[in-house]
Amino acid sequence: MVRRVVSGPERRQRWMPLGVWILGLTCSVGAVDGAFRPTGKSFKERLTAFLADAKASHGVTISRKAEFRKAEDAQKWHVAHMISYNSFESRKPARSESLDGRHVIAWSHLEDPATKWEHVRWEDYLRDRGGEVPVRQAAGWAPGHLPDEDRTRKQALAILRAAGVGTAKDRPREPNSAMVAPGFEGCAEPCRCGGTRSKHIDGMASDLGQAELRKLEQELKRADAGSLDAYLARFGLHRPMSSEPWHVEATSP
Ligand SMILES: [Zn+2]
Ligand SMILES: [Zn+2]
Repeated sequence: MVRRVVSGPERRQRWMPLGVWILGLTCSVGAVDGAFRPTGKSFKERLTAFLADAKASHGVTISRKAEFRKAEDAQKWHVAHMISYNSFESRKPARSESLDGRHVIAWSHLEDPATKWEHVRWEDYLRDRGGEVPVRQAAGWAPGHLPDEDRTRKQALAILRAAGVGTAKDRPREPNSAMVAPGFEGCAEPCRCGGTRSKHIDGMASDLGQAELRKLEQELKRADAGSLDAYLARFGLHRPMSSEPWHVEATSP
């Protein structure tokens, strides 16, 4: 394809006759040959092009969820995730204990009245034996209204359920166990796992409809059009987390 010679960065650097320049411009703007070129395009542009192509070429409409997330919401769900699951491979809260082989936030730290809760409210997480919000008294807890571990870990799970967090592929029996990244870089109390801020906050990641992605995979197979990952790669997209096949990000800037 001759037109490709004049598209891309060289076009701007090299002097060329006006006619050739216009041809190059038309090519890069209108994608005359039909191929999407992800280089230099934003995540949103890549995703939009991919979704449009999936519909036009394979008749599958894929819904996009949770592109943008508020930092406070992400942190709320992250702390809930670290209280009940911690599906991260290599993240550990600053004070942790082992629960079924996973490093969740230590109960001794959660129930400690001196623990500071940053960006989140302890009242949303801690529960007493009766399932109520524990009662503070002086520097401690009121008798009969102390935080209860079982109730508190269940409350964290209820937060994940209410938020509609997915189930990790490698933890199929544990509902809402998908990883949730912190809302703040490095995370904060009571977790402080050092995790990186969720890409959803800046709109740099998207969670796509799972059933629709499976449908697209079937269509690709039927059309002998290669794998879903190869298809995504054509648009500069990838799925970096194997346990969350619905989570899509850009491959490189
Ligand atoms: Zn954390
Ligand atoms: Zn995601």
